[in-house]
Amino acid sequence: MRIFTPGHSTYTDTLMLYGLCRALYLQFGEEFKGDFLKATRIGQQYMIEVEADVDEIVEALMRIPSSEGDRMYSQLTEARSPLGLFGERDVEEALEALRDEEGLRGYLNDLQEIGHSARRGEGRGGRGKTVKLPLIPLAGKYQHRDLTSTPKFAAKSYKACKHCRALTLLGFLNSVYGVRGREGRMIITLPFEGIVEADFFSDFFAFYPMYWEQFFDELRRVRLVDQVPIRTATYIVISLFSGDLIDAMTGAEAGWHSIGVRFAGRPGAPEVRGFCELELTSFIEGLNRLYKEGIQGLAPILSLIYLLISQGDADTLDSLFNFISKGRAEDMYETVRGAYSTLQQAKLKGVRGVNKADREFHIYFNDMARALLRG
Ligand SMILES: [Zn+2]
Repeated sequence: MRIFTPGHSTYTDTLMLYGLCRALYLQFGEEFKGDFLKATRIGQQYMIEVEADVDEIVEALMRIPSSEGDRMYSQLTEARSPLGLFGERDVEEALEALRDEEGLRGYLNDLQEIGHSARRGEGRGGRGKTVKLPLIPLAGKYQHRDLTSTPKFAAKSYKACKHCRALTLLGFLNSVYGVRGREGRMIITLPFEGIVEADFFSDFFAFYPMYWEQFFDELRRVRLVDQVPIRTATYIVISLFSGDLIDAMTGAEAGWHSIGVRFAGRPGAPEVRGFCELELTSFIEGLNRLYKEGIQGLAPILSLIYLLISQGDADTLDSLFNFISKGRAEDMYETVRGAYSTLQQAKLKGVRGVNKADREFHIYFNDMARALLRG
């Protein structure tokens, strides 16, 4: 059957897509592969073609409270969690909506036609209950406004039905990367253009990112994470994806994007403080080339990246990301030159961790040069 995400916003519909796929992935296990499911971006929504009927999808969603309920409470409501931007009431409401069999059936029937949100009168000042800001931070006109100069906006809140809100929250839990700072959090989502099949989603859900949380936690401890631009954080997060996941992303008939949003204020009532949208396709293809040469993304140089951030050397990081995206020799040269010079200064200052960063630098760029010269 074919269903459409409701059309709230690219960010929100992306979360809903992942939420729905998560439920189907848990329900169907081995069957969830190949063209069992195909998601196609259409405007700001996705069309999902899936080999399951309404009853099977309802069943998959109704299993969520028992399979994901505990994680929803712990990861979405605890202040220490990078995703802890919600209250217990938000999770309770979502779980309640996912137990409502009749309601879910009616909801899925309605999603078979494009435009649920407009048809039901949901939206800014519309019908339903308020959607929490982390689930719809950039609706409509705010997308192009300088958010740094308008930290607080007084607009009618965005409304949606309980099923839309529940699916979005489920997707938030299972698809965003959260980076916690002392003054707020960055949330990174991955929308795409084109077509993505079940294999990508199963690789995505199976991947447990081993380094990113630890890496950003270290930055947080020394109060650096709040200075890292959303853009830089996004590139670092993607660079720590596994080779399999990057390979699946490269193999899809899709162009990859990211929307990163910075939230500040109380976790229960956050405000949007900035956002950054990136086109990531060439970066992901570049990472895939590195993996194929036996170079594990940025994982082998985490101490070096940490040092560059702590020394405020954003230019070298940019050159490195440019080099991965475009494979140009001059970006490689800038990276090596910049990193070398920052390392020398850090040695003079006796910065902690500089020797480890220096070792990583030599091994990594030796390997990189060998791989490039051979190819
Ligand atoms: Zn709705």
